[in-house]
Parts: sequence; C-alpha cells; structure tokens
Amino acid sequence: MKALFFDGKPDLKELPEPVPERGEALIKVLLAGICNTDIEIVKGYMGFKGVMGHEFVGEVVDAEDTSWLGKRVVGEINIACGSCSLCKAGLQRHCPERTVLGILSKEGAFAEYLTLPLSNLHLVPENIPDEKAVFTEPLAAALQILEQIQVGPDDRVAVIGDGKLGLLIALVMHLHTGNLVVVGKHPEKLSILQASGITCLSVSEASERFSSSADKPEVVVEATGNPEGLRLALEWARPCGTVVLKSTFAEKPRVDLSPVVIKEITLVGSRCGPFPKALDILAEGKIDPRPLITSEYPLAQAEAALDEAMKKDSLKVVLRC
Ligand SMILES: [Zn+2]
Ligand SMILES: [Zn+2]
Repeated sequence: MKALFFDGKPDLKELPEPVPERGEALIKVLLAGICNTDIEIVKGYMGFKGVMGHEFVGEVVDAEDTSWLGKRVVGEINIACGSCSLCKAGLQRHCPERTVLGILSKEGAFAEYLTLPLSNLHLVPENIPDEKAVFTEPLAAALQILEQIQVGPDDRVAVIGDGKLGLLIALVMHLHTGNLVVVGKHPEKLSILQASGITCLSVSEASERFSSSADKPEVVVEATGNPEGLRLALEWARPCGTVVLKSTFAEKPRVDLSPVVIKEITLVGSRCGPFPKALDILAEGKIDPRPLITSEYPLAQAEAALDEAMKKDSLKVVLRC
C-alpha cells in the first residue's frame, strides 16, 4: 500500500499492509486530515519515525467482531495499556505505556490502511459526510477545553490564533458564550468566523481592547502554535483568569512566567478530547467545519499536500486515500 513515511523527512513509500493485532481492526482510510502536529513532526516534534497522520475517517475491512465490518468509523488516537494505575483511574490518554497513532510508536493514517483497537473506534452517523467526519479528532480536542473549565454565556473569552484548531475552538466557544473575541493575523481565515457572527480582531486591535483591566477576558485560549501567543495570552488575561494552552511545539519557547504569579492566572494544558461529543455536534449540524478545508489531494500526492499545509494561507488540507 501507499503511505507517507517519516524518517527525518516525509517520503511517499510502498509498504506492506498492516496486520491487525488481537483486538484491533483493519481500517481502510477514506479521508485523512493534515494537522499542525504533523507539521511539527516534520520539524522534529516527538522524534517520530513511521507512517504519519492521526486525523481520519475510514471503513472497517477486517475485525474479529464481524459486526464492525463495512462500518464507517473515526478513531481515538491514544492506545493505552489498559492495566496501569493511570488507565485504571480512567486516564487512558495519559497512560505512560501508550502509543499514539502517527505520533508515537504507532503507524498512522496517511496510508491506504491502518490498524486500531476496536475500543478506540466510534461509528460515524450516516448523516455526517466524510468531509465533516475527518474533523472529529480536532473538534474533540477543541471540546476538551469545556471538560476542563466552565464557560458561561456572559464570560469574556478570547481565542488567540486563526489556524485550523483556533477556528474550531472559536466555533465551539461561540456555542457557549456571547462574549467571544478571536485574535488572528489572517483576514481570509477570520472571515470564516465572521460569517458566523463572531467578533475578530487583529493583534494590535486586541492589545488596545484588552489594555484596560475591565475589558480583559476571564478565559484566554492560546492556539497560535507560536510561543509569542503564550506571551500575549498572559498579558491579556484578567487577574485570576484562566489561560488554556492548546499548542505543542518542536521549539522550546522562552516566556516570562511572572504574570502567572502576579495576576494569579490558572494555566490549563489541554490535549485530546471526547469523540462522542464531537460526533454529536457534527450530527446535529451545530458546527459545519467544511469551510476550513482549503484543499484536497490524493494520497499519491501526499508530499505536495504536506507542503501545501505548511503555507501560511492554508487551513485544513485533506488526503483522499
Ligand atoms: Zn491533530
Ligand atoms: Zn496504561
């Protein structure tokens, strides 16, 4: 099968089809999404070597439990041991023995086929087309914020970053508060949010708006993928407010943390989230992420797709596998 393999550089290769282990399904990948994490992996994040990719929708083509055959699925990306103290405490996503699809010791989704444990899979309701279902993983990551902090209808929330994840977070926050501001540098990306009635500002406009204590947001979500975003988040957050960190970098940022102490800010790190809630939102049509797809490539042109995804003006690039 064709697969995009990373070993210091991304390389489209011919590889043997993966063989499912006990409890795993063989999944034919239909559509896969390129994420910022994939771009960070190319820069050296996690020191990953293997088939890239973790966002996908696919069809089960082999499984011991034959009731799964032919089913359209999305898959949680963390594969836990199931028996350590963290797994037993329900923290499988933090299992120290875990592998992570296309990120840590597990062959990923930029391929014709992948394998995942059946326990990681979620059925995709029929009314969710592949182009929406491929967003389940990043949408779940956006929803994770609401598993961690409360956001009320009057809470002032700022999202910094108008990349793929920033926009999804903004669409999620917009369902929960009427006081949302999104800060970004790309008017054409922000226009997707403005179409939903979301207030969008440039960095300088936001700096002005958030200069007075009375207007500082209670919650700032940092989703720029850039260390400068963290500095701004700490500057803009209201005293005793919360800063949610969604970015992971290959680079190690140097940031002055004294505002965290002086303003008594709560820092919340936030990673993967609840797939069932993401699927519900997509099925109910509360969020339509399809305007975020800026281009589609066949798997055979995966290298070109990755180059495209790295361009400043692109959002979600998907691979038809
Ligand atoms: Zn991702
Ligand atoms: Zn474990």
